[in-house]
Amino acid sequence: AKERGKNNYQFYSSKLAELTSRKLDLEKWLRKSMEKNELTLNYQPQIDLETNKIIGVEALIRWHHPENGIISPADFIPLAEETGLIVPMGKWILKEACTQNKRWQELGFDPIPIAVNISVRQIQEDNFVESVLQILEEVGLNPRYLELEITESIMQDIERSTIVLNQLKEIGVQISIDDFGTGYSSLSYLKHLPIDSLKIDKSFVDDIINHSNKGEMVKTIIDMGHNLNFNVIAEGIEKEEQVIFLKQYACNVGQGYFYSRPLPVEQLEELLLKNRNE
Ligand code: C2E
Ligand code: CA
Ligand code: CA
Ligand code: CA
Repeated sequence: AKERGKNNYQFYSSKLAELTSRKLDLEKWLRKSMEKNELTLNYQPQIDLETNKIIGVEALIRWHHPENGIISPADFIPLAEETGLIVPMGKWILKEACTQNKRWQELGFDPIPIAVNISVRQIQEDNFVESVLQILEEVGLNPRYLELEITESIMQDIERSTIVLNQLKEIGVQISIDDFGTGYSSLSYLKHLPIDSLKIDKSFVDDIINHSNKGEMVKTIIDMGHNLNFNVIAEGIEKEEQVIFLKQYACNVGQGYFYSRPLPVEQLEELLLKNRNE
């Protein structure tokens, strides 16, 4: 199995190199992947640690390659960012996620926000805010049920980011800082930006059970987040021990394999159904 994995990887990286060398073809290739339904979104529940209810879902993209099976976004998102392909792909992701969330509301599930990962490259586009607004209007989704996950790397251009985030806030979408604690040394920006949630990076959540620093960072981030009136989400929870710790320090929301892996629509709907009946 290992041998096969390696061959797949080699096939894949040469395919990537080939695609990268033909940047102009990339958009065509992406469109084809979308038309052939090779790109799909999976959805991972976010759990209220107090009530154990699903209070949100994060959309995570998957590429079902006909020969290579499922290719991780960690492998193709960086390429999409480098080539700019993330811009049309990001619009497709946003629209797909909003459409799905609207459909869940129409099916009668309790309305919950859908979290969508946004690359810095998308935020840098002149018409990013307009395109978000346009998608929300087309889909007919109330903006409060869309949450944009951005990383601290947008702080590299703090001036522009402040403007864009304020415009997004005006539209009424929610904003969370993903991978919090890994990207940027200054925390002062937090006070000045319209942020709703912090997502504590998995590496810190791992520390709770690694005994490396007994979760000191996690405690610090939870306290700081609460002092600033943010929702605090812990990601990458795999063990009950972590849940106990996080609850003890009043973390609000949890996400991770302990609760559920990212799931295809139908399976997520089964969880939503249970969630409604409980
Ligand atoms: P991320 O936004 O930090 O997403 C969390 C990643 O951790 C996801 O990997 C998720 O499947 C995984 N995960 C969740 N819970 C656990 C857990 O308990 N244990 C472990 N080991 N992993 C867990 P995934 O789906 O492979 O995505 C990887 C990264 O690719 C994402 O990190 C995000 O940066 C990027 N990505 C994924 N989908 C999109 C997308 O639609 N747009 C953009 N721009 N980036 C995306
Ligand atoms: Ca994320
Ligand atoms: Ca993350
Ligand atoms: Ca990440």
